[in-house]
Amino acid sequence: MIGVFPEVSGRILINGDWKKVSKTKKVINPAKIEEVVGEVALCSTQDVDDAIKAASDVFKSWSRTSVEERADRMRQASEKLSPLVEENVSLLVRENGKTLVESKKDLLRCIQVMNQMADTLIEWWKPVDLSGALQSVQIRRRARGVTAVISPWNSPLILTFKRVIPAVLAGNTVVIKPATNCPLTVLTFLKAVASSFPPGVINIVTGSGAMIGEVLCSDPRVKAICFTGSTDTGKTIMRQAASTVKKLYMELGGNDPALILPDAALDRTDIERIRGGVLRASGQVCSAIKRIYVHESRYVEFVDKLKSGFERVVVGNGIHPDTTMGPLNNKGQFDYVKGLVERTKQSGAQVAELGQKLNSDSWEEGYFMNPSIVTNISHDSELVHAEQFGPVIPVIPYTELSQAIEMANDTQYGLRASVWTSDERKAAEIADYLEAGAVFHNNHTIFKDLRLDFPGIKESGFSKETQWGSLELFTDSYGFAN
Ligand code: NAD
Repeated sequence: MIGVFPEVSGRILINGDWKKVSKTKKVINPAKIEEVVGEVALCSTQDVDDAIKAASDVFKSWSRTSVEERADRMRQASEKLSPLVEENVSLLVRENGKTLVESKKDLLRCIQVMNQMADTLIEWWKPVDLSGALQSVQIRRRARGVTAVISPWNSPLILTFKRVIPAVLAGNTVVIKPATNCPLTVLTFLKAVASSFPPGVINIVTGSGAMIGEVLCSDPRVKAICFTGSTDTGKTIMRQAASTVKKLYMELGGNDPALILPDAALDRTDIERIRGGVLRASGQVCSAIKRIYVHESRYVEFVDKLKSGFERVVVGNGIHPDTTMGPLNNKGQFDYVKGLVERTKQSGAQVAELGQKLNSDSWEEGYFMNPSIVTNISHDSELVHAEQFGPVIPVIPYTELSQAIEMANDTQYGLRASVWTSDERKAAEIADYLEAGAVFHNNHTIFKDLRLDFPGIKESGFSKETQWGSLELFTDSYGFAN
């Protein structure tokens, strides 16, 4: 059962109309590259312009609806999604490559975001009173306008929903550009959501990122760009958006370090969490652990334990319930990571290719890679500094903590970091020195409350998320004094 996706395959959404586009590209299954899952529309510049117009025309009336109405509509939309989860898990697996478990979590998290944000909205929207003896002053909020949401392929659904939901709840209208490799689950879910809102509030265009990005960035009707993707594309968008001074929200690349201290427990829980931090979605996560620095006194023990953990990974088609790690998502990513590993081997590093193949006969049919641990590698190597986005982890020994912190910070990125020690106070102290948007102690994961998030620093981007989550990001605040 494949859900409603034939209704969205090869289509875009403009002003409530699911328009069939004549130019399309195949969406393929990365676990079985001969299998075509559906079609993605390659829209024209006119389509993008039409989507912006639709969003712009309805903005005035939508932004003046009450917060109660917007929250109610969002809860109704989330109810429509619940019955779609089971039948769309396999669609996400087939177009993205994630496992069944990973895919189901992503789908459920979208519903969680919708409800948590709707619950927060009414309380959050109330004006903040700053009145003193001299003046009565309030901080109030208003929606910003047409907001473009551009999202990547690695977690196509949740990274679209986490931006679209607060934007719409805050009274904005949106033009969404999902990733071209795996847009079908996003389109299917958004089809259900969009029908709960007036036509034009939610519009979707697909196709060339460069073309759509340029139109969105240069159009003065678009007031904000909310981008999640690579640092290079983020820089292009920032340049293009400068001419109309748009508000920007940038969630970019990462190269997260994990620091293993001499007193780390390294018990089964630690090893499973580190393995999960490295291999979730086959390592194709912006905040995956991508480098591990281990105190020399625990190095051999750590590598042995991590190898045993990686040995238990079952690599195969995510649609099979026994698979614990799926393929890489696309040929570009697959060739890039393979090439990096090959160059790393040639430089003299040792690459242990681990894990079990679910089915050796079909290994060549998809973009499968073994989870691998790289030792005898220096901090200066390409694999350590690139955002490699694959199931490969370099493990590097250190002698002094100051040296480990220096290596951890020696990167253009600053998304997440983790410290593994049995001393919580020491972890908190070290967190002060790590250049990252968030530091985890004895874990490397996501924030469970999806209203919470912390932006990256350095070239991992910026936004201004707070404890209220992204709602603040999608509004302008203004002062009212009398
Ligand atoms: P990408 O930058 O290639 O593409 C992201 C999106 O931008 C896609 O929809 C693409 O079509 C579009 N795009 C491409 N060129 C464009 C342009 N010139 N103007 C506007 N849009 C354009 O990234 P990707 O390969 O899809 O995703 C992987 C990257 O995303 C990694 O670097 C990863 O770290 C990053 N990422 C960051 C976060 C975060 O929250 N910080 C989350 C997930 C992924």
